[in-house]
Amino acid sequence: MGKAYDTFRELLGEVFDLNAAAAVLSWDQQTYMPPGGNGGRAMQLSTLGRLAHQRFVSEEFHQALLAAAEDVRRADPESDEARILRRVRRDYEKQRKVPSAWVGEFNRVTAIAQQAWERAKEHSDFAAFRPHLETVVGMRREYADFFTPYENVYDPLLDDFEPGMKAAQVRSVFEDLRPKQVALIRAIQERGKPVDDRLFHRAYDIQKQWDFGIEVIRGFGYDFERGRQDKSAHPFTTSFGLGDVRITTRFIPDYLPTGMFGTMHEAGHALYEQGISTSLDRTPLATGTSLAIHESQSRMWENLVGRSRAFWSAYYPSLQAQFPAEFGKVKLEEFYRSINKVEPSLIRTEADEATYNLHIMLRFEIELALLERRLPVADLPEVWNAKYREYLGITPPDDAQGVLQDIHWSFGILGYFPTYALGNLIACQLWEKIQQDLPDLDARIERKDFAPLLDWLRRNIHVHGGKYDPEELLQRVTGSGLQAAPYERYLQRKFGEIYQL
Ligand code: ZN
Repeated sequence: MGKAYDTFRELLGEVFDLNAAAAVLSWDQQTYMPPGGNGGRAMQLSTLGRLAHQRFVSEEFHQALLAAAEDVRRADPESDEARILRRVRRDYEKQRKVPSAWVGEFNRVTAIAQQAWERAKEHSDFAAFRPHLETVVGMRREYADFFTPYENVYDPLLDDFEPGMKAAQVRSVFEDLRPKQVALIRAIQERGKPVDDRLFHRAYDIQKQWDFGIEVIRGFGYDFERGRQDKSAHPFTTSFGLGDVRITTRFIPDYLPTGMFGTMHEAGHALYEQGISTSLDRTPLATGTSLAIHESQSRMWENLVGRSRAFWSAYYPSLQAQFPAEFGKVKLEEFYRSINKVEPSLIRTEADEATYNLHIMLRFEIELALLERRLPVADLPEVWNAKYREYLGITPPDDAQGVLQDIHWSFGILGYFPTYALGNLIACQLWEKIQQDLPDLDARIERKDFAPLLDWLRRNIHVHGGKYDPEELLQRVTGSGLQAAPYERYLQRKFGEIYQL
């Protein structure tokens, strides 16, 4: 490539460095920083964020982008250079459309809304949060309008998390899937052989939980030379470049699954980023291509691997060795059924595989109705509770366990929730292809041999980072776009067998 392209990469690298530095500070804030650091840290993060944005939308960067485009014009359209330029140009066009005065106001409004949400949740007082949410939803409509014309007001918001995805597609996938998932849960409740998971609600030593988690993710292939694990209140994965991809986890002393599956989940995210080609480092492509594809990776390791019979036939003896009093006399089959118990619950983050997507679908329907002005914010609690009754057969006793449970809306994040459910679908779609390509996969997992699986993911998904858009990536790997059928088959087969339907 020419000199102009090199200049462009250098400027792009500086923006990346500023964002990575902010990510380190944010990681520190959520892991080790003493509470007294809060005020100063907010200023530091705000300064770094502003500098990164200013450099990105500067005239110098614009000129470098134009000059680099000349350099890259004759390059293979699938080359790293062409793909980096394509993606950066798209990000640039988007960011330029949003006035910085609007960004400043949005940051101010959401900072206040977050505090209001925390208090409102604590007192289960939706009325106190309502005016803030009204402002946030109004500003989100304004944001969408920077990107007119659009098909649906939801589309520009969704596009920030899932490039190319439209609300209409999400709606059609969800509407088709929802009745089937509701019917499966009803069948489990009415006809299923009961599953008891009380054994998880005992005292489990935190250090032993930690040790077991580390053993598992080391087995998966998580590279501790290029990452580390720490504890935080809300587990997350963060990257400061491809040589340092960290995870955090959270343990509950008297409930084992949270820490165990949370660790596998975050390791799934981290394995994705650790596998990205180093040629994409210091660019916006050095991360997953979308949140749904990212979530497909975390869900795959957590559920398709981590809640499978093959996995536990390999790792159950280790868990029994860590907790002989708790599991010494519990048979593998009983344990397997327990970790796969299906039970409609109020809180999304604790939902099982069969009910999880219903939590997402109702949030998506509500977001859509809010943005399309079909639903006033004031009616939210009523609509929320009605949908929980309809889809899950339960009614939240208060708004703290209902409409106020998630932090997302107070941050101003609308259009994000669908990616969680889409991730579950994509995980199963990829899994069917993986099983075709690796017919002895289960046998390998039973021998704690994850190398063929990780290698497949590395070659087909990870290495590309953000080079291909999500739909394009799925087409390349599976030969078709997003499909819900593999997910439906997976749920029917797995839970039909466990519950003897
Ligand atoms: Zn995740």
